[in-house]
Amino acid sequence: MKESPRPLLLDLTRAELRELMAQWGEPAFRGDQVYTWLHKEVVASPEEMSNLPKALRARLEEKTLVTPLQLITQVDSQDKLTRKALFRLPDGNTIEVVLMLYNERRTVCISTQVGCGMGCTFCATGQGGLARNLTAGEIIAQVHWFDRWLRQAERGELRVKRPARVTNVVVMGMGEPLANYKPLMQAVAALSDQDTFGLSVRNITVSTVGLVPMIDRLAAEALAVKLAVSLHAPSNRLRNKLVPINKTYPLEALMAACQRYQAKTRRRVSFEYALMAGVNDAPDQAQQLADLLTGLHCHVNLIPLNPTPGSPYQPSSDEDVRRFRQVLEGAHIATTVRLRRGIEINAGCGQLRQAVQQPDVIPLLT
Ligand code: SAH
Ligand code: SF4
Repeated sequence: MKESPRPLLLDLTRAELRELMAQWGEPAFRGDQVYTWLHKEVVASPEEMSNLPKALRARLEEKTLVTPLQLITQVDSQDKLTRKALFRLPDGNTIEVVLMLYNERRTVCISTQVGCGMGCTFCATGQGGLARNLTAGEIIAQVHWFDRWLRQAERGELRVKRPARVTNVVVMGMGEPLANYKPLMQAVAALSDQDTFGLSVRNITVSTVGLVPMIDRLAAEALAVKLAVSLHAPSNRLRNKLVPINKTYPLEALMAACQRYQAKTRRRVSFEYALMAGVNDAPDQAQQLADLLTGLHCHVNLIPLNPTPGSPYQPSSDEDVRRFRQVLEGAHIATTVRLRRGIEINAGCGQLRQAVQQPDVIPLLT
């Protein structure tokens, strides 16, 4: 008989850990202790849970998993400010996680699914389809992994200053977070628990392709994360081609949901717009975008496309990016151009994974 996989401790809420301890014949408060070790001290193994009896530590070691992540490879950008890691999960699937060091921020970009079912035509992850959802513990573990890495002794490899902890989380890795809602929210709750990991919910950004009903559900949560919406086109005609889910939730419905999110949470919504040469980067398209966003308290992130193998799209020229930005700013829309930092580490969504699966296509810089 196939042995069932060991349960992942990070999948369990505090209450579930207390229950597990009770099932094991331990006092329930042991569950709180384990929870604190996992979520506050961010330990990698039960061995380190020094206030637990030895036998309990041994049992946890044998019967459960603390982290599901096994590092396969990691690459740093040339400026040493970005590190991208590829991990293997217990079932053999692989996911990407990125650490970015901007000023005093330590931002981790995490994945919520293995692959993605949304099929955006310029996205490396979208091309492979959805393999499966990640569990809450698998999502939390990505942040913990880099937090542990940052906490450990001084680092010469990346330019990390101490004290070093994760300060921000962006849910912009592989997968559509709002298509994996419950595990996502369990992870947000754990990471923003002020008694343990203590991240401010204001420092957590969830990026969505635009699943309208789920944006409304997110707006109703007590935990108001920052919302980023992947727009990429100012008209339904073009967006239908680039972002197929637009046929289900067209721009009018999406914009109305963003208005509701902003009204409910009082937080500025940001929009991602990947600039593709000759596709969505003309000045009149910038004007169309400005018109679409009028009246919304928002921010636009322009990202020159990361070209992916097998895709016909190319990044816009610096000149076109500048012109596009000028039009938006002329319409008083706050705009930033996201640096193509880390492009040399295959920083586009899903690209490191693709590189490892097809080693002939993108050479890895190691
Ligand atoms: N599924 C979510 C979050 C993950 S994708 C979403 O789509 O928002 C994170 C961001 O990377 C999105 O804005 C996505 O559109 C963008 N992206 C995907 N492929 C890209 C590429 N090749 N170049 C630039 N941005 C890309
Ligand atoms: Fe999925 Fe986001 Fe990629 Fe679209 S851009 S395929 S939603 S990961």
